Amino acid sequence: MQVWTKVQAARKPQKNEDGEEEDPIDVSGEEFQQQLAEELYAGEPTEGPFAIKRIVSMGLYFGERTPRPEVAPGVKVDPAFDTEVTPKKGMGVTLGPEGDVYAGEYKAGKRHGRGALRAATGAVYVGGWEEGKKSGQGRMTYADGSTYDGAWKQGVRHGRGTYTHTNGDMYVGEWWANQKQGQGRYCQKAQGLMYEGTWKLGKLVSAKVTMSDGSCFFSKFEGGRPVGPSGFAMSNGAAIMGNFKGAEKAGEEEEETEEAAAPPPPSTWEGGELGAVDGMTEQRMREQYCTVKPTLNVVISGPPASGKGTAAEEIVKAYGLVHVSTGDMLRAATEDESNEDGQKAKEFMNEGQLVPDELIISIVVARLQQKDCLEKGWLLDGFPRTAVQAAEMQKHFIVPTKVVILECGDDVIVERISGRRLDPQTGKIYHLTFNAPADSEDGTAAEIMERLTQREDDTEETVRKRLAAYASNKTAVQDAFSNICMVVDANRDKGVIWEEIKTFLEQ
Ligand code: AMP
Repeated sequence: MQVWTKVQAARKPQKNEDGEEEDPIDVSGEEFQQQLAEELYAGEPTEGPFAIKRIVSMGLYFGERTPRPEVAPGVKVDPAFDTEVTPKKGMGVTLGPEGDVYAGEYKAGKRHGRGALRAATGAVYVGGWEEGKKSGQGRMTYADGSTYDGAWKQGVRHGRGTYTHTNGDMYVGEWWANQKQGQGRYCQKAQGLMYEGTWKLGKLVSAKVTMSDGSCFFSKFEGGRPVGPSGFAMSNGAAIMGNFKGAEKAGEEEEETEEAAAPPPPSTWEGGELGAVDGMTEQRMREQYCTVKPTLNVVISGPPASGKGTAAEEIVKAYGLVHVSTGDMLRAATEDESNEDGQKAKEFMNEGQLVPDELIISIVVARLQQKDCLEKGWLLDGFPRTAVQAAEMQKHFIVPTKVVILECGDDVIVERISGRRLDPQTGKIYHLTFNAPADSEDGTAAEIMERLTQREDDTEETVRKRLAAYASNKTAVQDAFSNICMVVDANRDKGVIWEEIKTFLEQ
């Protein structure tokens, strides 16, 4: 303990006799450790340096551990001769090598249950833990003095919570993957403003703003400023409709701690009609100026050739979503000889098997975290296909708003697929029986026919394998999203199918 305290003190910036700052001491260096050993262990020259080395690199732990299993039935190791360290379990206190202190529960060697952590930076967290990460309800006091009290998941702010800034500003509302997202209230102390509205990816997108004199306005927001058609309800009873112009987009990055919102710099206001505030005005203004459509994130699933491609095209067109097809991404990767993931995936795909979960998960997570997907929403086609993939989505905060599952008989699919052909020049898909090429801007029917190719995994044998793989995983996916999923009978006309999907997505 004494060693640990001295090591932590030495890690801090030092001052020399004249009060000037010096570099922190290199605690892993021989010189420091030697000196400390002489100071603290003068009588035990062999034990001392070893204990110091261990504390510098591993810290200290006082607490319970997993009991050591029996060596053989009925034979226990005498603890006096037991040098093996088992994982931490139950209550314990860890003095980390870098100065972090944790006191609380452990499971399987990880923080799990209730516990308090004081980080070397000065930040303090008291609350729930799961598998080593902050989870459940907890309160964090950041090094700068700001606090967050609320729900956590996977180590980040997620769910409902209150963030209090050092300047007295406060946000109470919903969080998603560490950012303000959803409904919330932001109280800005300096100007006496109260924002009640909707946040997306950490940014305010629409709000009712109440000012200190009781007047309020309703508007959409961009870069912290009101923008577009807006309405004021003045405290003297007058209602004014108008327009905010000249909002500039601010593209600043979010930090780990939350930046307090800047006061909205006045956008140019073009006032319009003047009326009186009656009971309905507020409600009307809220509907008219503050309605923002939530981002639509859709998963579409179905056996190969169930009409998934056609439905996906319609969805993307109608709602402006980014189409993310794992099959397409993998095929592109397989064609690139230098792409290691692609070459690995190729063997599985040509066999009609699913590629390993960890490979596809990292590809999908990276894609869906790109800006276009976050801003426009996405249509995920071909993922998840296993229960593991569905569970991993949740871990990465990738959660669909709707899941569409197309259902189609196996024989229908085999007939559809074995006649399916690709035009490599235009990327269009034809079918020898149901959708043969016709004369068009792409060439004459005969020309197109001549260049059509068949996908390597479109043979009957491979299709049957792909169908078996799909069937074994369908239930897992359906179970993971049962409350937001619709199963569509895909043996019908595509117009009918589309109407059904559209109604479901707009509910
Ligand atoms: P698709 O075009 O969606 O039928 O995908 C073609 C092939 O890519 C599949 O047969 C699999 O080998 C592979 N694949 C696509 N998506 C996934 C996924 N989510 N998990 C595992 N393998 C996938």
